[in-house]
Amino acid sequence: ASGYNLLRDPRYNKGMAFTHEERDAHYLRGLLPPVVISQQLQEKRLMQNLRSFEAPLHKYISLMELLDRDEKLFFKLLIDNMEELLPIVYTPTVGEACQRYGSIFRRPRGLFISLNDKGKILEVLKNWPEKSIQVIVVTDGERILGLGDLGCQGMGIPVGKLALYTALGGVRPSACLPITIDVGTNNEKLLNDEFYIGIRQRRATGKVYSDFLHEFMTAIKQNYGEKVLVQFEDFANHNAFELLEKYSPTHLVFNDDVQGTAAVVLSGLVAALKSLGGTLADHTFLFFGAGEAGTGIAELLALEMYHQAKLPVDESRKKIWFVDSKGLVVSSRMESLQAFKKPWAHDHEPVTNLIDIIKAVKPTALIGTSGQGKTFTKEVIEAMASFNKKPLIMALSNPTTQSECTAEEAYYWTEGRAIFSSGSPFNPVEYNGKVFFPGQANNAYIFPGFGLGLVMSGAIRVHKEMLLAASEALGGTVTQEDCQKGMIYPPISNIRKISAHIAANVAAKAYEIGVATRLPQPENLVKFAESCMYNPNYRNYR
Ligand code: NAP
Ligand code: MN
Repeated sequence: ASGYNLLRDPRYNKGMAFTHEERDAHYLRGLLPPVVISQQLQEKRLMQNLRSFEAPLHKYISLMELLDRDEKLFFKLLIDNMEELLPIVYTPTVGEACQRYGSIFRRPRGLFISLNDKGKILEVLKNWPEKSIQVIVVTDGERILGLGDLGCQGMGIPVGKLALYTALGGVRPSACLPITIDVGTNNEKLLNDEFYIGIRQRRATGKVYSDFLHEFMTAIKQNYGEKVLVQFEDFANHNAFELLEKYSPTHLVFNDDVQGTAAVVLSGLVAALKSLGGTLADHTFLFFGAGEAGTGIAELLALEMYHQAKLPVDESRKKIWFVDSKGLVVSSRMESLQAFKKPWAHDHEPVTNLIDIIKAVKPTALIGTSGQGKTFTKEVIEAMASFNKKPLIMALSNPTTQSECTAEEAYYWTEGRAIFSSGSPFNPVEYNGKVFFPGQANNAYIFPGFGLGLVMSGAIRVHKEMLLAASEALGGTVTQEDCQKGMIYPPISNIRKISAHIAANVAAKAYEIGVATRLPQPENLVKFAESCMYNPNYRNYR
């Protein structure tokens, strides 16, 4: 164990924070400049460096290099500067990083499993250096954020998500495994890009695809057992729904785009009731975009309406309308609708134009989950404002360029009456002397705590009631003061505390349902969650 290797192992490296005693004990003398600098001071220096970069992508590259060099410092930085760094490590900057993954490539992170590895996936898993894995985030890169098919370059997403699992949810970095499954890409630009890092073929589909994923899921369970969480991320919607349905009965699986989104948005909707009044069932919801996010939210929303008002799920569904690329989802279209849209096809004549749809359906809440930027035009927002005192507008599509409208537009076009929140972060907006704080319906509020709750209880299956438990825990952290500022989410800077509460609520539900295997149940689950969380402070090596 030479000092030289210690400096090059990101798990143990402390940079110039090694004390003189440590330098003596671990053969480090002379390998570092003579001065000892604390973790805090290194943090300060790094933040200064980061802020000197103009381009967010350069900040991203610099942060990833830090992760490769000094893991604890990376997480310390992320935790202490959450609001500033979240948009770099995750959406929106991670999207740009994925688009240019080939050209900014330095060192591989995560596990790449391509069709070339067919029949050998178990062997590939065994090449990973860590044996005790708790959370896997896997993508096939087909629908990265709102950016579409980025093939193998989608790897930025599992890497980023897992960084948040550690920073926000406290899952140990060594227990996290990012995986990209490369079955090809239909992105012509990438197929013709000389720096593309994936296999150069069009996407495998049908049986080839499902057999390959089945080999993967089987190998995962064989190698890591039943308690490893597999989070599906940024799959195209047909595969996302199929995989979730197929593996939910046998594996611990979670789809953040469907279920995580649902829990975080539902929490915001419930919090908005504090200013809107009434119960969920008193409102009418119009979703613009009927994919993974939209229909996932609607499912959980209907379930919560049932819990709140004992409104039968069939009745709840009638309060929820969908628009897809072909217009309002109505029963006359039933034959040609994908299965996950069918429950939302109500009796109505076909309407295609969003403004006409708003006038016909008269929603109190308009929720954008289309991936299509700038679609909530002035006329659309004004239509919402014409019959709602406080129109609820959620523009959830990511990254920022795909947002259905900006915060400023929502407040200005409703004369400051909108309750607004978005998928991508927007700065506070001043209108008529009043400052509005747009909340970010960030999945990062839910999935890290949700995952921690599963891991700490040893849960082996995910149930819908556990998602509601997570959503309720998040909603419970929104204060009256937050509401007065127009916020339907708590400040993200409190996220580790929030995660501990979510984890505790989820774990409690897992015990209640009987899918928890960590026995006996800890007495105080919040305390237990906090005690499980990864600590980014340097350790003393003496
Ligand atoms: P998806 O499964 O591909 O669904 C997109 C839906 O939008 C489809 O139903 C599609 O219609 C519809 N659509 C596309 N163009 C449209 C148009 N011009 N007019 C009306 N509808 C249109 O994607 P997703 O996973 O749901 O994600 C959608 C967006 O939500 C992404 O930008 C993603 O980043 C964002 N998102 C945000 C959060 C968050 O804020 N927390 C969480 C998850 C996802 P067809 O069905 O007819 O093709
Ligand atoms: Mn996603």
